[in-house]
Amino acid sequence: MPQDRYDVVITGGAAIGSAAAYFLTANPDFTGSLAVIEQDPSYQHCATALSAASIRHQFSTPENIQMSMFGTQFLRSFGETLEVDGQHPDPAFHEGGYLFLATTAGLDVLRENHAIQIRLGADIALLSPQALSSRFPWLNTRDIAAGSLGLSGEGWLDAYGMMQGLRRKAIAQGAKYLSGKVVDVQRNGRRINAVILDDGRVMECGAMINAAGTGAAALAGLAGISLPVQSRKRSVFYVQCPTALPSCPMVIDPSGAYFRPEGQGFITGISPSSDDDPECDDFDVQYTLFEDLLWPLLAERVPAFEALRCGRSWAGHYDMNTMDQNVILGLHPDLDNMYFANGFSGHGMQQSPAVGRALSELIVYGGYRTLDLNRLGWRRILEHDPIIEKNVV
Ligand SMILES: Cc1cc2nc3c(=O)[nH]c(=O)nc-3n(C[C@H](O)[C@H](O)[C@H](O)COP(=O)(O)OP(=O)(O)OC[C@H]3O[C@@H](n4cnc5c(N)ncnc54)[C@H](O)[C@@H]3O)c2cc1C
Repeated sequence: MPQDRYDVVITGGAAIGSAAAYFLTANPDFTGSLAVIEQDPSYQHCATALSAASIRHQFSTPENIQMSMFGTQFLRSFGETLEVDGQHPDPAFHEGGYLFLATTAGLDVLRENHAIQIRLGADIALLSPQALSSRFPWLNTRDIAAGSLGLSGEGWLDAYGMMQGLRRKAIAQGAKYLSGKVVDVQRNGRRINAVILDDGRVMECGAMINAAGTGAAALAGLAGISLPVQSRKRSVFYVQCPTALPSCPMVIDPSGAYFRPEGQGFITGISPSSDDDPECDDFDVQYTLFEDLLWPLLAERVPAFEALRCGRSWAGHYDMNTMDQNVILGLHPDLDNMYFANGFSGHGMQQSPAVGRALSELIVYGGYRTLDLNRLGWRRILEHDPIIEKNVV
């Protein structure tokens, strides 16, 4: 007879759901039962599997910096921490760094951000155009006033591998992963008593975590909560260039275009303009964005990119917090047992270890024990008091 009551039910089993499952089951003060409900065990459409899989400390919001710094720490000891049956998962973490470039117009913000990052212990250097040119001779710095480069701790990884490592360890520690879609919840006043799956199963819960990514707003709606999170499509283009770019980091152009090494080539992308960025759920790659906007920008920044060839590319969707593009984390004030971790707006993969740990602290202790993430809670949303992150890519 399958169990139909769990102390914690997590809806969504990708990076955030699996990080929460791992940290809860690893917490010696958590003695309850835990189930993760995932509608697509192949994970082929989730943001985690389709992301650009990069981690940076170069944010403007202290909490974002601190969460990513914990992400780095966690990745560095990933294999050891998540060992199962003598197997050490390898998230292929490569500390290649981020390089944010600024023109004169963006110089003050770059410097302000850098000061915050340094204060929090991030290893970021501010470089002049001359220093940039000697370090990266392939880069056009004519219009550049300065760049900030992550010297350690930032880089890229295998996001799918990270998620699977967390999932596997969570299962080894007692988490149950169940296949199914949550299609309804039973709410009684301030509590969610149960979730209902698409096959009719009713699963009672002591607490529920919404880790449903782009499905988070629909899930919140089942509980009568309006969550300002929408799905946004982002195309990631894989390109090859006949010329090598030695020591190429993840480069963030002042235009918002990004590129970084991937295998024998590079991945690159840019967000569409906000008036051409509707909520959508198709997976069609926006090749016109590449041809009309991105390639010219890339060729301007790196002349060798004139000769690039676009290869197999993909599109994924992320959970955009339409108010301030930062995660909405924790309990909703109208509910005593429904926790949210949604609206990451393109930086949730790297924040998943910190958010998983934070959720475990909220559930087990009723408050944060390590990083104080209270500012990222619902209050700012309900009081229209946004936390503006200046470095959204
Ligand atoms: C193109 C692209 C590039 C990105 N690049 C980066 C990057 O470089 N660095 C970074 O940190 N982040 C990046 N992100 C963002 C990052 O991928 C996400 O913030 C992060 O993966 C969110 O994880 P999640 O677990 O919340 O959501 P998801 O990975 O989307 O997982 C949600 C899961 O919930 C399941 N689910 C949804 N509804 C239900 C339901 N009702 N019942 C059961 N299951 C349900 C889904 O099937 C899914 O598996 C990128 C995203 C995209 C799309």
